Amino acid sequence: MSCLFCKIVNKEIPANIVYENDHCLAFRDIAPQAPTHILVIPKVHVDRHSNIQDPASLTLIHQAVLDIIKQENIQDYRLVINNGSEAGQTVWHLHLHILSGRPLSWPPG
Ligand code: AMP
Repeated sequence: MSCLFCKIVNKEIPANIVYENDHCLAFRDIAPQAPTHILVIPKVHVDRHSNIQDPASLTLIHQAVLDIIKQENIQDYRLVINNGSEAGQTVWHLHLHILSGRPLSWPPG
């Protein structure tokens, strides 16, 4: 499997993992865009949000987010999913960004 995030799931390459359960893994972004920048991914490979087959998987990802914000004592935060190149997606394994720790402007670039 050549997918970068699948390799992180399989512990073939290192990552700064902050959370793991049966369905999801979360690790710190290698190029953080905020003081706290965590990626939450499903362990099962899905290339992008629009190709999710089972919407229940999103509930599992959001349950992980709620666990992580408690664990990391995160107060205000932004959740981002980039779907497709034009939206800024660069890694083709679904991931949700948790961004926190600084004021975030709107609209996004
Ligand atoms: P996106 O642009 O939404 O596809 O986000 C991909 C994110 O993955 C970017 O914020 C990258 O900095 C991050 N990233 C790429 N490679 C790694 C890695 N090996 N470990 C942690 N984060 C990574």
